[in-house]
Amino acid sequence: MQDESIRDDRQALTGDLAAMTSPLQAYLETLHHTYQPLREGAMADYIPELAKANPDWFGICIVTVDGRVYQVGNYDQEFTMQSVSKPFVYGLALEDHGRDYVLSKVGVEPSGDAFNAIVLDEQSNRPYNPMVNAGAIAIAGLIKGENPAERMNRLLELFRRYTGRTMRLDVAVFLSERTTGDRNRAIAYLMRNFGMLAGNLEETLDLYFQQCSLLVTCHDLAVIAATLANDGLNPITHERAVDADYVQDMLSVMYTCGMYDFSGEWAYRVGLPAKSGVGGGILAVAPRKLGIGVFSPLLDTRGNSVRGVKVCTEISRHFGLHAFNTCTDDTRLREAIFGRL
Ligand code: GLU
Repeated sequence: MQDESIRDDRQALTGDLAAMTSPLQAYLETLHHTYQPLREGAMADYIPELAKANPDWFGICIVTVDGRVYQVGNYDQEFTMQSVSKPFVYGLALEDHGRDYVLSKVGVEPSGDAFNAIVLDEQSNRPYNPMVNAGAIAIAGLIKGENPAERMNRLLELFRRYTGRTMRLDVAVFLSERTTGDRNRAIAYLMRNFGMLAGNLEETLDLYFQQCSLLVTCHDLAVIAATLANDGLNPITHERAVDADYVQDMLSVMYTCGMYDFSGEWAYRVGLPAKSGVGGGILAVAPRKLGIGVFSPLLDTRGNSVRGVKVCTEISRHFGLHAFNTCTDDTRLREAIFGRL
């Protein structure tokens, strides 16, 4: 018994040392060092709570599908998830209702409009996709549950499975979102006007504001991304977060619509399904390989973290992770993790 626990301890220690001394860890440290001085961009200030973030915060984390963790900087600083939550609530709606029904309510077309545009597809009256606010609010309205508390608990439980830890709400951010959320309210009423959103609108909006106000770390984002990379199975806890059947639906909308009005250029340059939020988080998924989380609250004019975009672009290029990269094999990535092969 004692021998076994000693062996476990040794294994854990060896694992930690592997991460500390691996070329991948060293690579992330260099990246962090390179981009820490970059001060471009501005913090989201549509609510005072978000403007309180520190512009120097900067964390990077990579989690592989076999559960290895590499992280640097402010990887355990909490911030609100904001729009990064959208693909995951979409996944839950797919589990609740199936693909056809969800598609009849929310499309999958990139819109070219701003994320908070008060606009629906003129032909179908559907929001364009689940990554813009209209689509995400319609998706929040589809989450099953007897009452608001039960629906919120389902979201907390959903993100607990993805992150492997108990989730908390930033109540101050939630209340600010709710107080200043008239634009989102307008979107919800427009959808109700067209018969696309039923039920109690204020309850649906509250659920949407709550999902945006969930606290996560950069480490959490990488674990969540690695869970999608691993077909919906959390690679650290080995708990299933989402039905594997719906992972491709989530990744598809992330690929085409996940990075606001930069989604096309992101798909072209970085080539990874991803989602960003105005809290400064970005997560990116390299299917069957790894998940990337980056956090830095300075945003560009489209709402994406400036350092986050730079870091993901570099990592994708360095390891040949672009979805359509047919020229390279995995050698560079495997050597970064395991040393020279
Ligand atoms: N809570 C924000 C809103 O609905 C989400 C912003 C974002 O991250 O895109 O305006």
